[in-house]
Amino acid sequence: MEGAGPVFVVLLGAPGAGKGTQAKYLAKALEVPHISSGHIFRVNLQVDSELGRKASDYLARGELVPDDVTIGMIRDRLAQADCGRGAVLDGFPRTPAQAEALDELLGERGARVAAVLYIKVDEAVLIQRLSGRWMCRQAGHVYHQLFNPPKAPGVCDVDGSPLYQRSDDTEETVAHRIAVYLRQTAPLIEHYRKRGQITEIDGGQPIEVVSRQSLAALPEG
Ligand code: AMP
Repeated sequence: MEGAGPVFVVLLGAPGAGKGTQAKYLAKALEVPHISSGHIFRVNLQVDSELGRKASDYLARGELVPDDVTIGMIRDRLAQADCGRGAVLDGFPRTPAQAEALDELLGERGARVAAVLYIKVDEAVLIQRLSGRWMCRQAGHVYHQLFNPPKAPGVCDVDGSPLYQRSDDTEETVAHRIAVYLRQTAPLIEHYRKRGQITEIDGGQPIEVVSRQSLAALPEG
């Protein structure tokens, strides 16, 4: 993809589908930033910024943060210099209004969404994955107590930071987040399908297989 214009890739899929894991892989392969809207919110919550305070209740309940707040945040992030060659978007857009805003934001830069990967996983598997999930404090690297344990318990293999369980990964909030996804985000699959941009990938396969298929689905990938 050397010499081509910026490459913006959108990952769609339910919570627990593996978007974060695959986004990290693709961002590294494409040498572009990985932008996780959920991670940005969590970091802001930790430092108790104005954005963090605005998002806090929504995250705790597993609801979507209002579009104006979320779109403003992504606008600021995409304006940073490291997005000049593109980005892998993980968790954004999540509503039709966000998808429209993304088109506008990229259009202002003479860019567009290059590909949309829909990582599909059965609901029962999602719940199992989320309730055993651990993340690192520093960069959000993801582990699972059964399926993908860290080498040393409680410590991130990549950066050595402590692992924690997300407070919205409780069984009750997980079920609600999946319902929110089905109601508000799943319609985007049809939106991008109509534009001929969706590649569906079976997210129930081993991580490396999903990664390989994801990379192969990108233009010139
Ligand atoms: P995630 O890490 O992607 O599972 O996101 C965690 C939480 O952050 C979600 O349950 C929402 O409360 C919030 N969030 C993340 N991305 C968005 C978005 N694009 N729109 C609204 N809320 C979001």
